[in-house]
Amino acid sequence: MANSDSTVSLKLLVDSKRHKVLFAEAGKDFVDFLFTLLLLPLGTVIKLLAKHGMVGSLGKLYESVETLTYHYSNMFISCILTPKPAIGGANVLHLLAGDEATRKVYMCRSYHRYVADDSRAICPSCKSAMSTEVPHVAPQVTSGSSSGEGGGYVKGLVTYMVMDNLEVKPMSTISGITVLNKFNVKEVGDLEEKVVHLGMQEGISLLKASLQSNYVLTNVFLGKKVA
Ligand SMILES: [Zn+2]
Repeated sequence: MANSDSTVSLKLLVDSKRHKVLFAEAGKDFVDFLFTLLLLPLGTVIKLLAKHGMVGSLGKLYESVETLTYHYSNMFISCILTPKPAIGGANVLHLLAGDEATRKVYMCRSYHRYVADDSRAICPSCKSAMSTEVPHVAPQVTSGSSSGEGGGYVKGLVTYMVMDNLEVKPMSTISGITVLNKFNVKEVGDLEEKVVHLGMQEGISLLKASLQSNYVLTNVFLGKKVA
């Protein structure tokens, strides 16, 4: 459901001694969220991060776009100022952009049977501005549908293993054991299961961490800055 308070939950396997996430067990919604990051236009990524203190030249370039609004065509402004992935499908963008990701549609005041994405459009029937916002209903995403397909990018009814560096693979007992060996975990008692929720704040932190670190889940969910 695309409402801005809904969160996505995932289960972390934490090495409590080393204070590190070994991997996350996640469903389709979290993996859809991760793949959405790859589909975001660069301008949208900069916009999201600029609000949360991103520095660097691309941040400056984005600020210039905002201050020079009157110098651009309407099409450029709506493309760069409205966050949307290159391919729609997964209903998880609200985790990054909140209400801004909600689609807005407009009609004329007489509710003739035309809708527009931009409130400056003119109704073909009465020639008045289509400035009345009407609610848009997003399609229901059913991750547990009988085909297991649901909406979004990856199949439902499958549990995925997401590594701290965001590598994604299908979950299996063998892959779990392989990871424990790889991280040299000798004491099962050091392992702790932790259920966490990804909301908008964590979504933005994850985007930021994914550009800077190989310890993304540890950074975001254990609040530890690992270089
Ligand atoms: Zn009209």
